[in-house]
Amino acid sequence: MDEELKKEIRKMALQNSFEHGGQTQDKIILGKILGTKPEFRTKVKEITEDISEIVANVNQLSFEEIKKEIRENFPEILTPKEKIEQREGFPELENAEQGKVITRFPPEPNGYPHIGHAKAAIINSEYAKMYGGKFILRMDDTNPEAERMEYHAAIKVGLEWLGIKFDTVKSTSDDMELFYEKGMELINSGNAYICTCKRDDISKNRRERKACKCSFKDVEKNNKNWEKMKEKFKPGEAIVRFRGDMKADNAVMRDPVLFRIIDGKHYTLGEKYRIWPSYDLAVAIEDSIDGVTHAFRSKEFELRKEIIDSILDALNMRKPYQGFFSRLEFKGMPISKRIIKPLIEEGKVSWYDDPRLPTLEALRRRGIKPEAIKKFIMSLGLTKANTLAPFDSLEAFNRKFVDANSTRLFMVRNATKLTVKNLPVSSVEIPNHPVNNMGKRKIEIDENFYISGDDAKNIKQGMQIKLLGLGNIFIKKKGTEIEGEFIREGDITNILKIQWIPQKTAHEIKMIIPKVLFNGETFNEESLEELDVYTEPYYLQLKEGEEIQFVRFGYCRKDSQNQAIFTHK
Ligand SMILES: [Zn+2]
Repeated sequence: MDEELKKEIRKMALQNSFEHGGQTQDKIILGKILGTKPEFRTKVKEITEDISEIVANVNQLSFEEIKKEIRENFPEILTPKEKIEQREGFPELENAEQGKVITRFPPEPNGYPHIGHAKAAIINSEYAKMYGGKFILRMDDTNPEAERMEYHAAIKVGLEWLGIKFDTVKSTSDDMELFYEKGMELINSGNAYICTCKRDDISKNRRERKACKCSFKDVEKNNKNWEKMKEKFKPGEAIVRFRGDMKADNAVMRDPVLFRIIDGKHYTLGEKYRIWPSYDLAVAIEDSIDGVTHAFRSKEFELRKEIIDSILDALNMRKPYQGFFSRLEFKGMPISKRIIKPLIEEGKVSWYDDPRLPTLEALRRRGIKPEAIKKFIMSLGLTKANTLAPFDSLEAFNRKFVDANSTRLFMVRNATKLTVKNLPVSSVEIPNHPVNNMGKRKIEIDENFYISGDDAKNIKQGMQIKLLGLGNIFIKKKGTEIEGEFIREGDITNILKIQWIPQKTAHEIKMIIPKVLFNGETFNEESLEELDVYTEPYYLQLKEGEEIQFVRFGYCRKDSQNQAIFTHK
């Protein structure tokens, strides 16, 4: 095979390892070659062997070595990536004036914040930033039954972690008196009425596009019923409905709810109110009075645009521009409370910070950096096409943030004993990062080591291996334990280079490896892998939460002195 093709194969293998951070498979490279160079389709057999050899060789390299080789020989691999990074920011807004844009993020404090919240918050806050405008955080807290201070606090913590800054923080419930005032205005102008029908009848009428008898009652009767809603009616016995259009094709317009009775205890207001505004009414009035110029929310609210505009028209209030974006969810990692809550109750998932979940708390614990989430979300842009992103797509962004400052440490799993004779030193100093100046650590050694079981499998009597940072070893004997002898570095290329741990100071930790929670609709019973592994005592000196790259394994976050969580390759 010609050298040009070999070079091309090596480039593809390096690029694949660099972009996906893991072992490259022969078939991926073969597919790429056959895809780009049809002339080789008749020579599959010949090129397969070369691919196999080159890929095996590349798979031996560390991430740093791969990067170095790419930088030296194939810098073009790096260029398109940098271009993507430069294309930052969202598309320009219509009718937006510099300094006058006001956006908001109105989460309901009824659950822990997740990647979907991050998207809404980032899009709205970035637009405010782009136009030198203002950004409002508004807790949309008008459903006391579902909302709790715990969630309110978790949302604030999550947003703080994402580095999102607000010009104003408020709660929708601050304006209860105003909602009542506007509600009365709608009742008195005939734009709203009180419906005392049963829930089932209301649904049936909506389906059949028929008005109920309540919609014909006069203003006086509606005023009386409004008074009765304050005390006499029980929850579900009366609601205030907007006079929309029962014949409308948009079902949302068929006389939607404006107020309902809820006898729950609100987490800040207690039992002060029992008539609560609906989402449509609250968001319409709040966005208008808060001066919001551009309101972005996820696509499932798109049908509600019409009702929000209609309410504001009926009240002669200013309407903001409403924009929509696709909901963000990772494949196999549901964000819905209806799915996550039962998993926690059944003990299948430990808590909202379980590293398999897409909650902000879980992503943080897993070692995902807020800057990476932001860049990732910015890269998705404002498309409305629903995206079920693979988690890898976030990993690629995260890798860039963790690579530069994660300590490189040795870790072995399925430990096998290795004894080495004739070692010329009793300690070695190893840099904590191959490129950046992050100091060194001193490792005391004697002749007893642990190496990974996977590496032990590949070691045969009579071969040479390299213990990283230490030197070359000639393998004298291999049984359940391995015996070797230190030798001067030879000039053997393609030598197996492995990490190791001194037996006397080996520190055992639990390694948690999160995987997808669901395969399609089915819960993945093997979604959490736990390994008992050995690492260096230096691990104990790192701070909790620090990112580590275990050499030849991947990035992990130190969760505690005895536990690390696998972030990604
Ligand atoms: Zn009715």
